[in-house]
Amino acid sequence: MTTGFPFVPAPVQARILIVDDDVATIRVLAQVVQSQGDVVFATGGADALAAARAERPDLVLLDAEMEGMDGFQTCAALRTLPGMGDVPILFVTSHRGVEAEVRALAAGAVDFITKPFHPHIVEARVRTHLTLKQRTDALLRMATLDGLTGIANRRALDTGLAHELRRLTQPGASPLSLVLADVDHFKRYNDFYGHQAGDDCLRAVAGALAGSVRRAGDLAARFGGEEFAILLPGADADAARTVAEKLRRTVVSLALPHAARPDADLVTISAGAATLPPSPGGDVDALLVSLVAAADQALYRAKADGRNRVAVAGRDAG
Ligand code: GH3
Ligand code: MG
Ligand code: MG
Ligand code: MG
Repeated sequence: MTTGFPFVPAPVQARILIVDDDVATIRVLAQVVQSQGDVVFATGGADALAAARAERPDLVLLDAEMEGMDGFQTCAALRTLPGMGDVPILFVTSHRGVEAEVRALAAGAVDFITKPFHPHIVEARVRTHLTLKQRTDALLRMATLDGLTGIANRRALDTGLAHELRRLTQPGASPLSLVLADVDHFKRYNDFYGHQAGDDCLRAVAGALAGSVRRAGDLAARFGGEEFAILLPGADADAARTVAEKLRRTVVSLALPHAARPDADLVTISAGAATLPPSPGGDVDALLVSLVAAADQALYRAKADGRNRVAVAGRDAG
């Protein structure tokens, strides 16, 4: 994601990035921490930034003295990379004294280990910081993912919306679209098939919606109940209509039977799309209200026009 939305994938084997211009040191450190994760390494600052982008490490061991970009500069630069904001960076250095340690912490390091290091000290501190990182990631997942469907929750949507609306009010912004989608005749589905089957249906629909929006920055979230919201940064009204139509067709193609509705026999969604133009200097709160209201009105129109269809705010009225 490029929205700043803190999406965190499920934990796999931890990945540890070792950065040192001395290959012998890398080798020793790798031996010390190899039982705690997959080790990748870099021999300079620029290398470390490239490795962090490519490998998404969970923890970084960083040398201070290096040719070119030193450890302090590297640390500060690592911190600004997407997804690296709360990855623990531990200095391992022959620098001693308060001044270097203060500089390292100011650059964003969480710990400072002096060379010659004792293997058990490195191992223990790495373990502590990896444990904390994994706990933070788990909490972040719980805070931002919907418990039933596993897609982004309302809180994550609000965070993404706020971020994108701030962007919209900056100079040179591109448009922002929002699609609201609602399952058709879902009350009858629950009444007929039972609440458990209703939950399964919501999971299937959510998975289909989230799987259909794949552009960086797009965000599919559960808005509440059987309603979903899809945030489309950079999409104009035509693009939003195209995405909404694709979502509608994707749900049809799931071919989930719905024998209890009067007008059709499959589970479908209705969708309303709305778009805001770039709004330099605009009021974020007012923009939020008007975007959601416009998408909601379009959704209402799609329902009134017969369901299993898309309506676009400001278009095809009547
Ligand atoms: P419409 O086509 O106009 O949208 O009709 P509808 O029946 O889908 O609309 P309504 O808002 O009346 O009903 C929504 C239903 O969604 C009611 C509620 O029982 C069900 N629902 C909301 N959240 C959940 C959930 O988490 N699990 C299940 N199984 N059902 C839910
Ligand atoms: Mg060095
Ligand atoms: Mg509803
Ligand atoms: Mg509904």
